[in-house]
Amino acid sequence: MKRKKIIAGNWKMNLSAGEAAKLATDIKANLSASSTCEAILFPSYLYLSEVNNILKDSTVKVGAQNCSDKESGAFTGEVSAMQLQSAGIEYVLIGHSERREYFKENHPLLKDKLSIALKHNLKPIFCCGEPLQIRERNSQKEYVMRQLDESLFGLSEKDLNSVTIAYEPVWAIGTGLNATAEQAQEMHAFIREQVKSKVSESLAQSIRILYGGSCKPENAGELFACTDVDGGLIGGASLKAKDFLTLIELAG
Ligand code: PEP
Repeated sequence: MKRKKIIAGNWKMNLSAGEAAKLATDIKANLSASSTCEAILFPSYLYLSEVNNILKDSTVKVGAQNCSDKESGAFTGEVSAMQLQSAGIEYVLIGHSERREYFKENHPLLKDKLSIALKHNLKPIFCCGEPLQIRERNSQKEYVMRQLDESLFGLSEKDLNSVTIAYEPVWAIGTGLNATAEQAQEMHAFIREQVKSKVSESLAQSIRILYGGSCKPENAGELFACTDVDGGLIGGASLKAKDFLTLIELAG
């Protein structure tokens, strides 16, 4: 099955308001009309509405980097899935390794975040991936399988149709050290196999699995050419319009 590729830009906690607006404007202005992949920007919460407004008559979509596991109420500083959906936001990142590591987000919490995001019709990009010491022990498949089992595979197949998976080896994020095409393909094929055995063959064929971790114009061609790599979740290189646009072009 031909899956539409995704290039998603995770801006993290970077850029001033003016810089965020300029980056979104530059991407919109220079996006090739022939691009067939889906491009999504993930700015900070603060800029979501403005970036969404800038991109409103373009094909580029907008997502949030996180959402609360709670419905609403006295949770100072949190942003709910309902609020994101009501502000016209379509996507949400769930389980980024920085959230897991610095904010101690664990499997049950991520399961709740996925459920509430889906309840409010957001499309989650669920991140998984092993830290360096796990890779060094060659236990990466067991580690990623657990992340999928504990947070993702309890969802209904109908809900899973709205989910994208991003495989992001933690040792590659922001380090300049990307997984090789062989390492990425091996893990992506393994994840697809898990989807097939735990959910269904048809979902395994249709679900998009993105690669993330120091993906940039210099290495993306090789990574995106892998059979089971359906695009990229991009950190550093998404902060430069030229690099992000090149990645969109490379994804086809
Ligand atoms: C990320 O944070 O999701 C990421 C992949 O970052 P980078 O591209 O900078 O490694």
